[in-house]
Amino acid sequence: MKLLIMGPPGVGKGTQAIGIAAHYGVPAISTGDIFRDNVKNQTELGKKVSAILADGGYVPDEITNAVVADRICKPDAVDGWLLDGYPRTIGQVSALDDAMACGDSGLDAVIALTADADLLTERLLKRAEVEGRADDNAETIKHRMAVYNEATDPLLDEYRSRELLLEVDGIGSIDEVAQRITAALDAKLG
Ligand code: ADP
Repeated sequence: MKLLIMGPPGVGKGTQAIGIAAHYGVPAISTGDIFRDNVKNQTELGKKVSAILADGGYVPDEITNAVVADRICKPDAVDGWLLDGYPRTIGQVSALDDAMACGDSGLDAVIALTADADLLTERLLKRAEVEGRADDNAETIKHRMAVYNEATDPLLDEYRSRELLLEVDGIGSIDEVAQRITAALDAKLG
């Protein structure tokens, strides 16, 4: 099972990714989490990306693509994965296609969570109080939204044209959204 979960910052990708991945018995792989862990542990990678994360821009494709190619080759990912927060650029879409070319199957589905921008900003500001993520401040949130709209939102059209896209309303309780995702995946994958 190879799945992607996409959508703007704050839409709940990470929360939903954990439940879906557990359901299918595959790892949930979040590029944001990988980068944050590296920043926390002050690795070479962490030092390279820390300022970019703080500013809310995208890590360069060559770095991100290498991180993901490496991660999806790990033994726990041979039977599939759910990628959360990747791909986010057209270059990442191609790199993922290439990285999968050696396997026996391509993507099964792409879940796109949707929500109104004002609500997302509100959620992220609340998350700042709870989790204290450095990039959840008003200015950085604005930048992350703008980068998402410009670089990542158009990628949904690519997956729509491949007939992989499942658009799911991300507004509601965690359980409600989870049920919508499960229903959409069941309808597509049986
Ligand atoms: P969110 O979706 O809420 O913005 P993430 O945890 O997915 O949060 O990502 C946090 C940050 O990590 C991004 O703002 C960006 O700097 C970096 N990042 C994560 N995934 C990618 C990616 N695929 N390409 C480039 N940068 C990324």
